Amino acid sequence: FKVRKPENEPIKSYGPGSRERESLKLKLQELKSKPIEIPLIIGGKEIYTERIGSCIIPHNKQHVLATYHIAGEKEIKMAIESAMEAKKEWERIPWEHRVSIFLKAAELLAGPWRDIINASTMLCQSKNAFQAEIDSACELIDFLRFNAYYLTEIYSDQPMSTKDFWNKLEYRPLEGFIFAITPFNFTSIAGNLPIAPVMAGNVALWKPASTAVYSNYFLMELLREAGMPDGVINFIPGYGKEIGDIVLDSQELAGIHFTGSTKVFQGLWKKIGENLNRYKVYPRLVGETGGKDFIFAHPSADSEALTIALLRGAFEYQGQKCSAASRAYIPSSVWSKMENKLLNEISTIKVGDVEDFTNFMNAVIDKKSFDKISSYIEYAKESSDAEIICGGEYDDSIGFFIEPTVIVTSDPKFKSMKEEIFGPVLTIYIYEDDKLEETLDLCNTTSPYGLTGAIFANDRKAVVHMKEKLLHSAGNFYINDKPTGAVVGQQPFGGGRASGTNDKAGSKLNLLRWMNPMTIKETF
Ligand code: GLU
Repeated sequence: FKVRKPENEPIKSYGPGSRERESLKLKLQELKSKPIEIPLIIGGKEIYTERIGSCIIPHNKQHVLATYHIAGEKEIKMAIESAMEAKKEWERIPWEHRVSIFLKAAELLAGPWRDIINASTMLCQSKNAFQAEIDSACELIDFLRFNAYYLTEIYSDQPMSTKDFWNKLEYRPLEGFIFAITPFNFTSIAGNLPIAPVMAGNVALWKPASTAVYSNYFLMELLREAGMPDGVINFIPGYGKEIGDIVLDSQELAGIHFTGSTKVFQGLWKKIGENLNRYKVYPRLVGETGGKDFIFAHPSADSEALTIALLRGAFEYQGQKCSAASRAYIPSSVWSKMENKLLNEISTIKVGDVEDFTNFMNAVIDKKSFDKISSYIEYAKESSDAEIICGGEYDDSIGFFIEPTVIVTSDPKFKSMKEEIFGPVLTIYIYEDDKLEETLDLCNTTSPYGLTGAIFANDRKAVVHMKEKLLHSAGNFYINDKPTGAVVGQQPFGGGRASGTNDKAGSKLNLLRWMNPMTIKETF
């Protein structure tokens, strides 16, 4: 059994008047008109608890899409037991059968479930149709198909045997369960974090982000329709700290697959360190955390391409991608050629709800985020080292809307050049053309992160030199392109430093983290 190398899922365009757009719009209406109640799903059973949360639409905050049940101690322990029970059979199912379930899930998502996953992501995470299509549907289909293909390659990678004995590597799953803690910003990542270890034979607890429970629940339902057995993934929305404390106390914890904040990931790591004697195995810690991603332009940069990259890199999905361009270093000679163009382009950006397909930006995810982002804008307004050259307004009367905002600073270590904001705020430092070297050093050392970065230069020697100087500053490094939008199978994604363990989502490297190979030698 061999899975063929897949092609990336073609992206649908949802053009005006297209059948695809009409069908997606109908699904949006249908979902909006029918609020649902979301249970926990543990061992295949729908569980209702005493505590309830609600899922709202960020661009229309009065609209409740769903209520969801919150896991407490009893349910979390039940989820661990169910996972461990399911593991007995799941890890012994021949891998091609396991993988078939997820290939079927990919087909369901590419077909009948596409509108549901896209529309629920659009509503609950305030993501426009184009971003939902790329970041949720296509990327998740790709994760499923590429993981299946990479598993084929891993399992067939075997040591040499001789005429006197044979050798084998048996790629066992880990001994215990995996705890997947998933982010709001990509439904695809939310799915991939529990799914990748599970495809390799593990079982998982899935704690979705509270702001993405709605779309993530539909995804859980899709997996069940594809034939995923009960208990293999247990869906437990709830409070991170409460769930984490109980899960991290379990001696069966074998790994964490995480995307979220650096602070939370470090907290988990510390707690695991403290509990180390409690576990049967060393839990594998795989995390993608924050970023303070840069675009660095050389004096030879093409100012048109740079303008588009800044615009898309900083403002698509309201800057709420770990990979978003949030600081830029631009030489004054290039800046003078592009400033007006950049401001003109930004002035055409429309911000609003997701049902008007001409809106390039929508709302930020919630009140907490809105307050955090606006506090950075206020800080810049009050500082003598910074000037807001466009945007700077925000309004949460209807939804959590923030204008695309550009700050120009004279201080290369200005607060918003260093700290992750996770919103539509770009800070630019304009450097004198003859200060390239020191500015590259600043770029490399100003933030603790190392996720994505982009350089713009047409001078080939400069490209080589800049890449060397910025060697550890990014796990995904782009030359003359924006730092967002990595595609599965093409640009494996992840970063180092404070940005994570860089185990590249949707790659062999990532899948191998969920395996505990046994070497077998038999002598004749
Ligand atoms: N993979 C995404 C990209 O390349 C970013 C993922 C994230 O925000 O966590 O833009």
